[in-house]
Amino acid sequence: MSKVAETVLEIDLGALRHNYEYLKSTLHPGTKFVAVVKAFAYGHDATKIAPFLEKLGVDYFAVAYTSEGIELREAGIQTPVLVLHPQSVHFDSLIDHSLEPCIYSDHIMSRFLEITNARGLRDYPIHLKFNTGLNRLGFGEDEAEKVFTVISGKHSVKVASIFSHLAAPEDPDEDRFTRSQINAFRRMTEMFENIAGYRPLLHQSNTSGILCHPEAQFDMVRSGIGLYGYGNDETKNRHLRPIGTLKTVISQIHRLEKGDSLGYNRAFIAEKPTLTATLPLGHADGIGRPYGNGKGYVRINGKYAPIIGNVCMDMIMVDITDIDCREGDEVVVYGKNPSAEEFAATAGTISYELITAISRRVKRVYI
Ligand code: PLP
Repeated sequence: MSKVAETVLEIDLGALRHNYEYLKSTLHPGTKFVAVVKAFAYGHDATKIAPFLEKLGVDYFAVAYTSEGIELREAGIQTPVLVLHPQSVHFDSLIDHSLEPCIYSDHIMSRFLEITNARGLRDYPIHLKFNTGLNRLGFGEDEAEKVFTVISGKHSVKVASIFSHLAAPEDPDEDRFTRSQINAFRRMTEMFENIAGYRPLLHQSNTSGILCHPEAQFDMVRSGIGLYGYGNDETKNRHLRPIGTLKTVISQIHRLEKGDSLGYNRAFIAEKPTLTATLPLGHADGIGRPYGNGKGYVRINGKYAPIIGNVCMDMIMVDITDIDCREGDEVVVYGKNPSAEEFAATAGTISYELITAISRRVKRVYI
């Protein structure tokens, strides 16, 4: 690992390759792989991550919004892109960029059909999303027959896939629920083949589904967090390697005397002489206020330094009283140790929230 002179998110593309190959090795040889690169590729910059994964041969990319898909096209991505949560106002630009929409409601279906029809398109690929228990986005099982009948009568679109999303695949206590989701998905997709006369790609699993429920593999899987080396289940994730290390440097060291306060609102009062280091990252970089006041910690020269006082917009302060360090020394916020999961847990959150919150002003360095 290299030494840094500012705050950087160091991204290990070798680890990304390893995670992709590991996840692929758990699948049947023919199972297709969707790389989920929404939210700036979970903070790692989709315009860098997607081209790398494209060369490795992923079958699809998935993003949440149309604007994210356009960013991929502008970065030269040719692989099909599934837009998981499009809004109808963007359908024209979605089509202009050959992006493939998730169709999840009557409103979205009728708007997309109107537009594809008006533009004289044929067999435009769409992806039908069904709700099997997450109760977030997608048609209900009771709507399946109607949706399949409407869609199979239209020539402007063709169903490239039918999919659903699992609610708690990593949780063994929810095994029965997960199995009920898988069974509901099977019932609906069988109905499609009977009505439309062909079989689109079927997919239901995210990373935890891949690792914990191989029976939900179907034809394709969608992995995000696993590609980046994190996840929900320590045992199942042990083969994955975190790709991101957030590093910074000590800008300045201060000595507080007993009774001195530190930072905004004087939230920290020294109980004894205390050495503090000020670091150039704060809530505008994605390290929010919940990490302050003794909750979070960073690692400096192999030792843990608690974050003390309130987190500021561009700075945090850490207690280095017992650490041999000087201005300019490197600081690890998360990476191998502490891991993103461990660091996130200090603020009562999860790796997904931590890594997607690292703002764009933090420089990404690819190694
Ligand atoms: N599929 C859908 C519909 C999602 O919303 C997400 C992420 O939130 C994923 C797949 C990827 O999930 P994970 O990052 O847990 O692999």
